[in-house]
Parts: sequence; structure tokens; C-alpha cells
Amino acid sequence: MELDKMDENDWKYHGEGNKSLVVSHVQLSRVLRLLKYPAEDSENPPQTAEQAFRQIQNIVDFSSNVMSSLLGEKFIHSGEVVKLPLEFVRQLSIKVQHQRPAWRCDKVMDIYSGCALCLPNLTSPGIHQPTHTPPLCIEIKPKCGFLPSPKHVSKDIKTKVCRFCMHQHYKVANGKWKRRSLYCPLDLFSGNRQRMHFAIRHLIEEPQNNFKIFKGGQCVYSSKEGSDDSLDLNSLLHHLRPYFLYGNNRINSHMTSKALLNDFIQVLVNALLSGGGGGGGGGGGVTDRRGEGRSFCEASLFNKERIRHGSQGLPSDSVLFRILQTQMLDSLDIEGLHPLYRRVEQHLQDFPKERTRLQIDGPYNEAFLEKLQKCSTEDDGSVEFAAAKVHQYRVAMTAKDCSIMVALLPSGEEEDDDEGLSGQRRLRDFRPPAFSYSVSILDLDPKPFDSIPRQLRLDQKIVSCYLRTGALPK
Ligand code: ATP
Ligand code: ZN
Ligand code: MG
Ligand code: MG
Repeated sequence: MELDKMDENDWKYHGEGNKSLVVSHVQLSRVLRLLKYPAEDSENPPQTAEQAFRQIQNIVDFSSNVMSSLLGEKFIHSGEVVKLPLEFVRQLSIKVQHQRPAWRCDKVMDIYSGCALCLPNLTSPGIHQPTHTPPLCIEIKPKCGFLPSPKHVSKDIKTKVCRFCMHQHYKVANGKWKRRSLYCPLDLFSGNRQRMHFAIRHLIEEPQNNFKIFKGGQCVYSSKEGSDDSLDLNSLLHHLRPYFLYGNNRINSHMTSKALLNDFIQVLVNALLSGGGGGGGGGGGVTDRRGEGRSFCEASLFNKERIRHGSQGLPSDSVLFRILQTQMLDSLDIEGLHPLYRRVEQHLQDFPKERTRLQIDGPYNEAFLEKLQKCSTEDDGSVEFAAAKVHQYRVAMTAKDCSIMVALLPSGEEEDDDEGLSGQRRLRDFRPPAFSYSVSILDLDPKPFDSIPRQLRLDQKIVSCYLRTGALPK
């Protein structure tokens, strides 16, 4: 990829979130992640090219120096900032415009700075042995997997119903989504296979912006407004089927949709519980979740009685464990944190130059990581303590907002298991097909310091909306 000879025809629209738009290279396993900003400002970029460069460099530093050490290097690809020719960026923005979903078009792509983040394309890993079957990649945005401690919250409901489940009522009430998702993050983070299975089934049923499937780098399953859901599910099954024809099924290719979906979910659960690479099962010690009472959400439709062997907890080398631990750096909840935020804010009003020493807007280096890791448990009334708690909270916010990408590649297609077992395989007595997989975490941007008051207001709105509309008996 030569930066001075960029051609928009080599790139295509790949996807976008709230903050950035992503294009992928048609041949190389690379993506460019470009900033977006509100459409009202389209004539008038909110920041200079240097500021945009700094912002993306901050993202790289935050990811590589802070998040990677908390989440585990093996899951993280931080990428690098690139400076692109402006003409290329303009042409690119015109080219992708018509592929963008209408509901994302309240923001426009940054065409002024020429800055972007260049990353490996995690939906088309090119590292494996050549195979006929393109990789299947599943993206999950899991959101927050625990309930806050009763010590810091003013409303009892927050210790019973998780943030995601309450937020669903708010989003439907405000027209963001037509239907509520019945996914509950606490089920996904439980480490209990049945609960995880249940959670993923609901992600498939109502993906919203929490679930996507890519095949050979192309998005083949995601939430699309106004589309017929049952048709979508059929087309998903059609995409999945070739990956799950094995053993007996490979011969007579009979496999009910239900069995197919079950096998798919089982493979995904295995990958999420594994150490993150290769084809092996989950290794490492199983660490139980602190405070059992804080790991079950009353809004989840999972029947507690169905948990046969209690909560197994998550293996400590699994991606979910690492994300959950990082999320739990939010130990005070937004309500407990806000007074500390105010302490820092007040201090900065009196001593604006302290912003740099306290590393409020970075740099996100080892010193920043040390500040949040060495933070004492007792509040000594200092601004340093308050700033460290704010840093912890912001890191936790990033971990609540990141996505997991699981790349599955069918492996051992040749090694047949029909010695002695040929012909009739015992019904339901099968191993799932062999996949080699790799697990990554993406979207690790630092959340701005001044977003905290907004977080408090949003929290209050979500809780009061839930108390008004959602807390009715199911
Ligand atoms: P959010 O609204 O979740 O904060 P965002 O604006 O920060 O999103 P990302 O989540 O980083 O943006 O990227 C948007 C989408 O682009 C992702 O959901 C994913 O589907 C795709 N994407 C991002 N990075 C990569 C990558 N390295 N490889 C493949 N796809 C990617
Ligand atoms: Zn929940
Ligand atoms: Mg995202
Ligand atoms: Mg993001």
C-alpha cells in the first residue's frame, strides 16, 4: 500500500459505528478507519488536521499502551495513523456515500484532515492455510457484563436489572429501535454454556448494533431496518450450512435449521471461552465471579432453575474474562464517580495547567496506566485520587463499548472421523466441526473526560424510563 498512490477503486465500504467509518481494501487484508463528525458541521470541520492526527494518535496510544495491557496483547491490533491524499479521501467519501445506512447519515466522513487509522482487516484474516471455504467472522458488541454494587447507587433497580436491559426500554421508547433485544450481557459473561447459548440466540434474533456476521470479509448478517427478519434468518442459515456439514450431515446433508444454529452457537461459545487462538478448548484456571448476586439480571428471560451446575465462571485467559475485569474498573458506578469528576473539574478551573500533569487528555502512556493501576482504595481527598478514579472509569467505559471479533476457519476438512464410526453416527453424539479460530478486540477509543456529566444524565433518564415503563411484571 503506497500512501502517495492511493486509488479509491481499491477500497470499498466496510461498515461504520457512531464515531468512524471503515473501508476495506479489495485485495489486501487492510482497513482504513476514518473519523466522522455531525453533518451540520460538514462545511466546517470541528478540528484542524493536526488535531485530527493527534486524536487518532491518541487512539493508537490508548489501545497499545493502556487497553492492550489490561485486555491482553494477543487480542489487540492497535494499527497506525496514516496521512492520505485529500483527493483520494474525497473520492472515497463520494464512492461510499450511497452504501451507508440512512440512520448513520446524521454524521459525515472527515474529508478535510486526510488522517486515518490503518488496521489489519479482522474479517478477512489472510494468515491461514489456503482453504476453499472463506473465513466466517462474528462480531459481538457485548456491552456491560455486571451489576453495580448497591453501595453507590441511589435506585435499587440498578442492582437488579442490568444497564443493557434497561437501556433497551429507553431505546424503544425513543424510537431508536422498533423492537427490544432480549439479549442480556450478564448471560453472555456468565461462563455458563447454557446461559451463553441463550444470550447468543437472542443476539441473532435481534442483532441491533451488537451482532454481525461476515463471510470472506463481506457482511452477510446484521440489523437492517425495515427488512423481513425471517428472510434474513433463512439467508443466514444458507450461509452457515456449508460450514456445518460434517460427519453424517456431510453425506446426506440433512440438518435441521435448529441443529445448524445450535452447532454454530456452540462453536462460538467455545471460541469465547478459549484462550483466544488455535483450535483447542478453554485452558487456564477457572476464576469465579465475585459477588454471585451481581451476575444475574432479573430482566433476563433465562430461567435460573435451568442452571444445572451453578455458575462455572469464566476461564481467566478468555476474552470475556479480560473484558469483564476491565469493565469492573468502574467500581463506583457513575453515581459514585460523579463527585470525584467534579473534584477534578473544580481543580482544573482553579489550576488549568494541571490538566497536563494529571494527563486528563493523555498522553496515554505507561505513566497513565500506572496512575490507574496504582490508585489507592481509600479516598484521601486528593485530586490525584479523583483523577485516577476518573481514568479507571473511562477505561471501563471503553471496555463496555468495544467489540469482539471471532474469526472461524474450517480446519481438518480432510481428517475423517469415520474409522469405526462410519455410516450411522449416533444421533446428537457428535463433536462440533473442527474450526481454527482467532479472537480479537476492536474499537478501543479513549472516551473523553467531559463525557462524564452526559453519562450521569443518560443514566438517570434510562433508570427513570425503566421505572415508568419497563419494570412491569413480565
Ligand atoms: P461504535 O459506535 O461502536 O463506537 P466506532 O464508530 O467506534 O463504533 P468501530 O466499531 O471501530 O467504529 O468500527 C465500525 C465497524 O467497522 C465495526 O463494528 C466493524 O464491523 C468494522 N471494523 C472496524 N475495525 C475493523 C477491522 N480492523 N477489521 C474489520 N472490520 C473492522
Ligand atoms: Zn440484563
Ligand atoms: Mg464499534
Ligand atoms: Mg467506538
